[in-house]
Amino acid sequence: MTLAPDMRRAIVESVEQGFADQLAYTQKLVSFPSVRGAEHTVQDFTFRELHRRGFVMDRFPMDQEAIERHPGGSPWSEQHSTAPIVVGIHYPREEKGRSLILQSHLDVVPTGPESMWQHGPYGGEIVGDWMYGRGSGDMKAGAAANVFALDALRRIGLQPAATVYVQSVVEEESTGNGALMTHLRGYKADAVLIPEPEDEKLVRANAGVIWFQVEVRGLPVHVREMGAGANAIDAAYRVVGELRKLEQDWNHRKANYEHFKDDPHPINLNIGKIEGGDWASSVPCWCRIDCRIAIYPGVDAASAAREISERVANFARQDPFLSNMPPKVTFNGFHTEGYVLKPGSEAEQVLANAHEAAVGKPLETLTTPAYLDTRVYALYDQIPALCYGPVSRNIHGFDECVSISSVKRITTAMALFIAEWCGTEPLVGA
Ligand code: ZN
Repeated sequence: MTLAPDMRRAIVESVEQGFADQLAYTQKLVSFPSVRGAEHTVQDFTFRELHRRGFVMDRFPMDQEAIERHPGGSPWSEQHSTAPIVVGIHYPREEKGRSLILQSHLDVVPTGPESMWQHGPYGGEIVGDWMYGRGSGDMKAGAAANVFALDALRRIGLQPAATVYVQSVVEEESTGNGALMTHLRGYKADAVLIPEPEDEKLVRANAGVIWFQVEVRGLPVHVREMGAGANAIDAAYRVVGELRKLEQDWNHRKANYEHFKDDPHPINLNIGKIEGGDWASSVPCWCRIDCRIAIYPGVDAASAAREISERVANFARQDPFLSNMPPKVTFNGFHTEGYVLKPGSEAEQVLANAHEAAVGKPLETLTTPAYLDTRVYALYDQIPALCYGPVSRNIHGFDECVSISSVKRITTAMALFIAEWCGTEPLVGA
């Protein structure tokens, strides 16, 4: 790497010096129960922290109409968050380097029963090398790393010699609309880095995701004449059986997708939520299931959605009850495509150098069959979109935690990456 050895050493030491504060900041982020729709206060906190550091601030709501018009926009539902997007902008004295977006999301998934957690989900408790809490790994440690990688430069009297946008978004766990909104707002840079918990690896390819809800209607009768009623919950089970076949069919197509052909089961259908019925002794007249399925990069979300709808409709036509009472399929969240990070970009090379300097090992890549916000920047900005972040455990599960030593390593790598990618200049006011 071209950073002078002195500067490299100074950056490594500076990350170390700020690390206690970085952990405290991460714990503070974890303390906000920022589940979908409740991210306002954590976004306010982020706004204040960036503002205090001298960033030029922008805070804006999501534009439903513009999002739904865009091919990468996901449909709205009542659950859609109204929390704002926050962007802190660093302008250099003179634009000499390459500009950069550092992005993170602060929405988290629900905790499930808290009695199943050994460490409180919003406590940020540290035991050994692990910090516990919902969102600790996914991705509040990354959000803090974005801020503290830049702080590390500032501590030694430096700042990036290019524009840097620190973006804090929501809706990453449900629609991806937060990231899309930053694009629609007009932000663009020469590269983006998102420190999601990726085991210190760089994401080479990821899947798109579709959310849908299937609603089945039945006919309520007393259970003593059960034969006369149609049980909506039983009917929903039959629909799930058909969706499992669709999942199998999509997995069989993996041979066509270079980055997914070696994954034993790249397409996961999750039946994530089920509700229905009103009374143990009444045949249930309604049942709703919420589902999530992945799609391969290159598959267009609209055509995948069409296939799901047609599959359910065709199945219903052959079912004695459902043929009279066709299930309703609603797309109520993620409607997003995957992407492949083109190998050989300069951004990737700079990150590989920075990683090797910080971690002492070559940068490996991985493929992930899950949604990532990087898709917005890769597909619609067409810029190198790097997803790279710390080692974690149990994300979306109980006792989610992030490795503290890993957070330090990736923050160091990020600070070195920023210094090399953007270049550096003396801090304003230094
Ligand atoms: Zn995440």
